[in-house]
Amino acid sequence: EECRKVLTSEIKTFPDWPEKGVNFKDVQSILFNPELASITSHYLKELLPKNKKNEYEFNKILCFDARGFLFGFDLAKIANAPMILARKPGKLPGELITQTFQKEYGTDEIQVQEGLIKPGDKVLIHDDLLATGGTAGAAAEIILKCGAQIAGFNFIMDLTFLPGRKELQKYVPNHKIKAL
Ligand code: 5GP
Repeated sequence: EECRKVLTSEIKTFPDWPEKGVNFKDVQSILFNPELASITSHYLKELLPKNKKNEYEFNKILCFDARGFLFGFDLAKIANAPMILARKPGKLPGELITQTFQKEYGTDEIQVQEGLIKPGDKVLIHDDLLATGGTAGAAAEIILKCGAQIAGFNFIMDLTFLPGRKELQKYVPNHKIKAL
């Protein structure tokens, strides 16, 4: 709650970027303020799923190109979990798993290298921001295709006026979709 208040007041919003009608929340303003970056990191860690024995309830973390990498790497180190990069087409070498998803206009794709997600894995998904849920949902589909489980979702921000959270509830219960 405290963190959300600070974030809401400190994060810079760019109206009508990258297109008209979008109010872009800029993660640069978190990174440029070391105190805010530390607070963000601290509270994101608090949101990681844990069991009753206080152990982390995931064994891998999947993060999105590119702003998801920033705090995702931080969380991966905290949990001592292997980190998986999900990227736009053309960025990753080797055999790839591709998932297409619906955008507001047209479709988009994300890719993950093959062999990183195995049956039985419990994968946590992290990104900077949840909007429509298309991107995070595509990652969820890749995890399921690999025969693994979705441990939960972890975001810095949730644009609650958009249906992202609702979209993701077919993958995990509501309480496993966390945002500051
Ligand atoms: P979704 O797929 O949920 O509609 O959009 C989420 C993706 O778009 C995330 O990867 C996120 O980085 C990016 N995104 C959409 N809107 C914003 C925004 O206002 N600020 C930032 N930082 N990223 C955004």
